[in-house]
Amino acid sequence: MGIRLENLVVKFGDFTAINDLTIQIPKGKLISLLGPSGCGKSTTLFTICGIHKPAGGKIYFGEREVTGLEPEKLGIGLVFQNYALYPHMTIRENILFPLKNLKWDKAEAEKRVVEVAKIVKIDGLLDRKPGQLSGGQQQRVAIARALAKKPENLLLDEPLSNLDTKLRVETRQEIRRIQQETGVTAIFVTHDQEEAMSISDQIILMKDGKIQQVSTPTEIYMNPCNKFVASFIGSPA
Ligand code: ADP
Ligand code: MG
Repeated sequence: MGIRLENLVVKFGDFTAINDLTIQIPKGKLISLLGPSGCGKSTTLFTICGIHKPAGGKIYFGEREVTGLEPEKLGIGLVFQNYALYPHMTIRENILFPLKNLKWDKAEAEKRVVEVAKIVKIDGLLDRKPGQLSGGQQQRVAIARALAKKPENLLLDEPLSNLDTKLRVETRQEIRRIQQETGVTAIFVTHDQEEAMSISDQIILMKDGKIQQVSTPTEIYMNPCNKFVASFIGSPA
């Protein structure tokens, strides 16, 4: 079992941002949370990783209930749209940083940095600073940093939005390769249907804090369950 959300409800004051969300992400799979801006994708991720506390429902990683636990206590890697690298540190130091916080043995941590840099193909860049790298390279560093501690789950929030079109296509293929190579369970948040269609095992399409459809890319394209899904996915009429 990977990640399971059961009847998740998240509120901001009186506003219900996530309304009775139940989803299952099998171990080792990549699912996309897809939907228009404001539908609750980021809120769902932030709740899974313990940044927002749910008003109701439960979150499980495998058999373990993790509802409301702090992010540091969870085996999660997080990747955001804006990379969030430390500009004054080298790439090596950026990737080492979370391992130091987790009190990894120094030699083990340094070995892991090289290993993970190879996986994302930035091993030639370890002594540079983030400012010397392209956007795509910086996002690879962010992914390497997220994977360094060997998390079971990888959560990515619009990781390609800051890249130009060509890099977006290249980097999404790389994300898929890295996810399959490492076997990490991944939730990929995007508002771009083409991105979701191209890299997911399953797509969860959301609107106004609710699930519209959960399907493989082919199924959702061929058999959209309502007009909203059909128009969002661009299914043949
Ligand atoms: P998405 O990531 O799909 O674009 P979000 O999860 O960021 O959407 O937001 C879902 C809804 O919750 C939006 O209506 C947004 O305005 C609202 N929202 C998100 N975060 C907060 C917050 N911290 N306080 C109040 N409302 C919020
Ligand atoms: Mg968002």
